[in-house]
Amino acid sequence: MTTPGFASTPSKSAYDVVIVGAGIMGCSTAWFLTDTPDFNGSVLVLERDPTYEFASTSHTNSCIRQQFSTELNVRISQFTADFLKNVRERMGGDTRVPELSIQNFGYLYLADTERFADVLRDNQKVQVAAGAATELLTADEIAARYPFYSVDDIVLGSINTVDEGYFDGATLFDWWRRQSRERGVEYVAAEVVAMARNAAGNRIESVTLASGEVISCGQVVNASGPRAVETARMAGVDIPVEPRKRYTWIFKAEKPLDVDLPLTIDPSGVHMRENGGGTYMAGGHSDIDPAAAYDDFAMDHALWENHIWPAIANRVPQFEAIKVQQEWTGHYAYNVFDHNAVLGPHPEIANFVFQNGFSGHGLQQSAAMGRATSEWLTYGDYRTLDLRLFHYDRIVSDTPIVERAII
Ligand SMILES: Cc1cc2nc3c(=O)[nH]c(=O)nc-3n(C[C@H](O)[C@H](O)[C@H](O)COP(=O)(O)OP(=O)(O)OC[C@H]3O[C@@H](n4cnc5c(N)ncnc54)[C@H](O)[C@@H]3O)c2cc1C
Repeated sequence: MTTPGFASTPSKSAYDVVIVGAGIMGCSTAWFLTDTPDFNGSVLVLERDPTYEFASTSHTNSCIRQQFSTELNVRISQFTADFLKNVRERMGGDTRVPELSIQNFGYLYLADTERFADVLRDNQKVQVAAGAATELLTADEIAARYPFYSVDDIVLGSINTVDEGYFDGATLFDWWRRQSRERGVEYVAAEVVAMARNAAGNRIESVTLASGEVISCGQVVNASGPRAVETARMAGVDIPVEPRKRYTWIFKAEKPLDVDLPLTIDPSGVHMRENGGGTYMAGGHSDIDPAAAYDDFAMDHALWENHIWPAIANRVPQFEAIKVQQEWTGHYAYNVFDHNAVLGPHPEIANFVFQNGFSGHGLQQSAAMGRATSEWLTYGDYRTLDLRLFHYDRIVSDTPIVERAII
């Protein structure tokens, strides 16, 4: 059986670029390649599960923020925000592409210690210097603006309501896939199970599919989401990325709030946000947070009862009376080294390119990451944002980029 839009076998035996994984990263990279005038090569995107049942992209909360502690992460989100707000124009003026916007309810980080308040103060300086509109609010200012919060224990908050909130990532994903296909990218439903290196060991020569078919490749992109480590191992390399379970609940409040609920990052580690129509979304994870099995998507009901609900009702007393409507578990591709993206070529296998480890912020980074990876594949260099800071090399040299604003 074939899945619409996915062929069951590649039409050729060799491609200039083979992308392993057709989640949002693989599709973004494929689309940006088709949008790079200097790239004239062939592109094959391979997807082991075209239903996307277990992909991170299917389980996302689809939010974007400017509040990072690393300047480059702020710049990356700025590009995505600009791409989203001009999506039709960016996609060649195609009138079928819907106009998109950001629902700017903002992220509200809450600090209940002076120590974390200092982190928010430091982060705000980085963000404002990069052009973000982050404001610091005292507990009284938070209560004046959002009277529904209980703020007795709060020392400081930081919020930004410009280009920060929900966006329709699913539509972006669909259109990148659809338009790149129309421009000649081949999408094939097939699992990559092995790779072969050349005699010198410094290039990937081919990928092998589960069917046994061998496809030669000029360059290979690892866009395998939480399975990044498996794909890297096929190339004989290691990457500090593992699947970690992240839970989401949609709930209806008996008495809805009268203004949009910012994406609130509570000191308890729980987060919640506006979801429209008197419903809200909450998310979190267990304190014990091991690598998950690839097929483990079981819900943790005790987590909701014992941790998530008490935390949200404590912060917003109106949420004492709520009813869960929907819930799911997804996997982060969790970068255990420094939570940041792992990009660029392997230092010894130059045609094996990483696009991994996005942890909880890959959806909002997908435009900048696709553009950057397409530049690297075309020029062996970056032409817009220089993302070398995120190259795999830093893992080898043990120089983490510590991102302090992690959800
Ligand atoms: C609960 C949750 C909430 C999130 N919320 C946000 C948010 O609010 N904002 C944000 O920016 N990010 C968020 N994220 C993160 C974001 O969704 C991910 O970073 C992003 O979707 C990653 O996309 P991807 O293409 O790298 O991975 P995926 O979507 O997982 O795609 C990888 C694909 O590779 C395929 N694949 C793997 N191995 C092979 C193989 N050997 N052969 C062929 N195909 C293969 C898989 O089947 C999969 O479809 C969230 C994630 C989760 C789980």
